[in-house]
Amino acid sequence: MTEQFAADVLICGAGAAGLALAIDLARRGVSFRLIEKMDEPFRGSRGKGIQPRTQEIFEDLGILDRIVATGGLYPPERRYRDDGSFTESDITEHQDPTPAEPYHLPLMIPQFLTERVMRERLLELGHRPQFGLELVGFGQDAGGVTARLAGTAGEETLRVRWLVGADGGRSFVRHALGIDFPGKTLGVRAIVADVVLTGLTRDAWHRFNEGDMARQIMFCPLAGTEMFQIQGPIPLDGNIDLSAEGLEAMVAERTGRQDIHIQSVSWSSAYSMNARLADRYRVGRVFLVGDAAHIHPPTGGQGLNTSVQDAYNLGWKLAAVANGAGDTLLDSYEEERRPVAAEMLGLATRLLDAQKQGDIRRGREVHQLDIGYPSSSLALEMPGRVGRLSAGDRVPDAPIRGAAGQPTRLFDLFQGPHWTLIGYGVEPGSVSPRAGLRIHVFGASGDMVDAGGHLRDIYDLSPGEWVLVRPDGYIGAIVAAGNVAVLEGYFAQVGLGLEGSAARA
Ligand SMILES: Cc1cc2nc3c(=O)[nH]c(=O)nc-3n(C[C@H](O)[C@H](O)[C@H](O)COP(=O)(O)OP(=O)(O)OC[C@H]3O[C@@H](n4cnc5c(N)ncnc54)[C@H](O)[C@@H]3O)c2cc1C
Repeated sequence: MTEQFAADVLICGAGAAGLALAIDLARRGVSFRLIEKMDEPFRGSRGKGIQPRTQEIFEDLGILDRIVATGGLYPPERRYRDDGSFTESDITEHQDPTPAEPYHLPLMIPQFLTERVMRERLLELGHRPQFGLELVGFGQDAGGVTARLAGTAGEETLRVRWLVGADGGRSFVRHALGIDFPGKTLGVRAIVADVVLTGLTRDAWHRFNEGDMARQIMFCPLAGTEMFQIQGPIPLDGNIDLSAEGLEAMVAERTGRQDIHIQSVSWSSAYSMNARLADRYRVGRVFLVGDAAHIHPPTGGQGLNTSVQDAYNLGWKLAAVANGAGDTLLDSYEEERRPVAAEMLGLATRLLDAQKQGDIRRGREVHQLDIGYPSSSLALEMPGRVGRLSAGDRVPDAPIRGAAGQPTRLFDLFQGPHWTLIGYGVEPGSVSPRAGLRIHVFGASGDMVDAGGHLRDIYDLSPGEWVLVRPDGYIGAIVAAGNVAVLEGYFAQVGLGLEGSAARA
């Protein structure tokens, strides 16, 4: 007899990672519950930088324009000298968008507004987080996970197929699984506070005493609000007065200015910086995503972005297995995402060291556009093929036309939960249609036209090649016309067999 579950997935924690996973599962029609132990949404601004790769993901999830409209771009950094004079520079190297990379600038939006937009999207899809409900225990067996939840109405037991711990840096799920969280404490403690203040303009990210870990302090005008985010290092021990009066005194002491007045504090925190990575991302039917799996300094604005991308990697795999794909597909989550976090921990720590020297420069590496999974077991590359793009790479965008003449983009073809197979100068009809796969052909009798030659230039394809695009925007396979038969094995592995309907379009 098939076991009945209350839901396929229990998502523990409704931060950015849990919400991203919930949106992805909702649009795939996978049943889930999203619980959050806090009684109301998080109020802080902390993860305020949305990197270009996350913007592409937000476009796919249907929230990018709302995120842009709610937030804005970063202002220039204004570095003050002791005599009050200053220099200004952009926070990141400026590069114009290209046909392949439509987003090149980090966006700034306080985390509480990002999460609000995500909750609104989730509601459109018919779901909402359950606040005031805490995961207090769980056990797993071969068939599923039994979870204990506690809320004001008492305790509840829930049986699900999978549990996802999206429960932040102090993750209850990680502790309960006994997963080690090795790494180091970085010997830096800092404050972050969202305040309304007078005395500073909103046209710059004001930075005082950079490189001086005793006196550094920064004021970033938070797009979409009237507030500034104050950040600054503090001594490793001792209480810090985070009231308006306490902060105003700290500001006066560090800036030497008496004209900056803190009127109110809406959220604040004093925290110690760590760089830690979970030993495992999966134990049986339980997974870790986001800060539950990795924590690191905020330098470079990587944490929320990496957390959203973890969820985006796991979502389609859970959906595929829920619909009949083999369980080993779920192993590729840790295989692909843990090395990305290991790399990012190094980057954030290097940027922290640079900031200590007063010399922080953020280049292309913080944009996360070069993240890929070339060594993944899901990257199927033709032997001997040489080209600019390889299996496992992020799929580039390109302006194209439909056969009817309408302008469109590759990203429009990819948007949604399906897989996409692009044939370049191929014979239409050589791959059988199936549920969850959309096939588009460029060339004679194709439904799409590479009008500006962008596809040819960016993808560097030879006539007769097929590119299989994963639901999360990475290349699953590139194969030549004579090799399309190998795609069948790949399709079976990811739940796209002719019988299956793993990723519902
Ligand atoms: C000062 C600062 C600046 C930052 N700047 C950036 C930036 O510019 N860009 C960036 O990308 N990142 C930044 N970050 C990091 C970013 O805030 C985090 O990486 C992000 O919040 C991680 O999201 P998450 O969903 O994994 O975890 P969280 O946001 O921590 O959410 C976890 C949720 O799980 C809930 N929970 C915990 N236990 C349970 C339980 N047992 N049952 C139910 N619910 C539970 C918690 O209440 C919480 O709401 C910054 C962080 C700081 C401190």
